Amino acid sequence: MQENKKNSISIAVASGKGGTGKTMLSLSLFNSIKNKYDDVVLLDADAEEPNDLLFFDAEEISSTDVTQKIPVIDVNKCKFCGKCRDWCNYNAIFLLASTKFIKLTEELCHGCGACSVACEFGAITEKDASLGSVKNFICDGKKNLYEAMMHQGVMTPVNVIKVAHKITNKHKIRIIDSPPGTSCPFIHAVAEVDYIILITEPTPFGLSDLKQSISTLESMNKKYGVVVNKAGLGNRAIYDYLSSEGIELLLEIPFDKDIARKYSEGKIISDFKPELAKDLEKMFDYLLNKYGNSSN
Ligand code: SF4
Ligand code: SF4
Repeated sequence: MQENKKNSISIAVASGKGGTGKTMLSLSLFNSIKNKYDDVVLLDADAEEPNDLLFFDAEEISSTDVTQKIPVIDVNKCKFCGKCRDWCNYNAIFLLASTKFIKLTEELCHGCGACSVACEFGAITEKDASLGSVKNFICDGKKNLYEAMMHQGVMTPVNVIKVAHKITNKHKIRIIDSPPGTSCPFIHAVAEVDYIILITEPTPFGLSDLKQSISTLESMNKKYGVVVNKAGLGNRAIYDYLSSEGIELLLEIPFDKDIARKYSEGKIISDFKPELAKDLEKMFDYLLNKYGNSSN
C-alpha cells in the first residue's frame, strides 16, 4: 500500500534570547511557503510582546478572550482565619486578622482554586478574569495569521499560549513564533509542536543561550535543529559544538547589513531575498518529509 504523503507539521521558531532573528525567520519561513502548501498559518505566540502582525496588511476577523477563574472574597462572611492565605502558594492573599483586612492581589493569582477549597465559611466564590486574547487576522484573502497577546500586569502568558495552541491546531501547517528564553512560556509554546528551529548567532553569547535551549528541549524529548543567523560574524565555536553533539545545522543566513535595514523598515526578508526564500522552502520540505504527519 502506498504511504500517504506528509502534509501537516507544526514548527516552532525559538531562541534562547531576544534579538537573534527569531521573528525575522518566522515571518520569512511563513511567507516562503504560504502559497505553496495547503492551510499554512503563522501564530505569534510571543504573547508578552507579539509584533509579527506589524509586518502584514491584515484585518482582524475574530478575537477569543482568554480567562481564568479568580477568587472573590466576601468580607461579610470571612472569619479572618487565614486558611486561604496559608493554602495559596503564590502569596496572592494578604490578610491582617487584627484589623479584619483581607485582600486578593489579582496579578499574583494563578487561578488554582485552592483558596476556595480551603475556606470552610463559604466566603470565597469565583469570577472570570481576562488574561488576554487570541486574535485571527485575514491577509491576502486567507485567515492565516494568529496573535496571542496577554494583558499587561498578568503574571504569565502560559494560559494564553495554551488557548492559542488549541485554536490553531486544526490547521495543517503551523509556523509558531515562540517566546524567547527557556522558561514556562517557551516550554508551553514548544510542548505541542513536531519540531523546533533554534535560531542563534555565532558568538559566545549565542552559543551559551543555544546550549540552554538545547538542554531544555532534550529534557522535553523534542526534535530540533539549528539555524545560524549572521553567519560570518564571530567565531567557529558554535559549529564545532553542533558537529561534536551531532546536532542538525539546518541553514546559515549570512550577515548582511541590507537584511537589518530592510527588517527595520518592516519588510519581510524572504520577500526581497529570493535565494533565502528558496533555501527556506527547501528546509521546510526536508522538515515536512522527515518530521511531518499525514492528515486529511
Ligand atoms: S486561586 Fe490559587 S493562586 Fe489565586 S489566590 Fe486562590 S490559592 Fe492563591
Ligand atoms: S479561609 Fe475563608 S474565612 Fe478564612 S480568611 Fe480566607 S476567606 Fe476568610
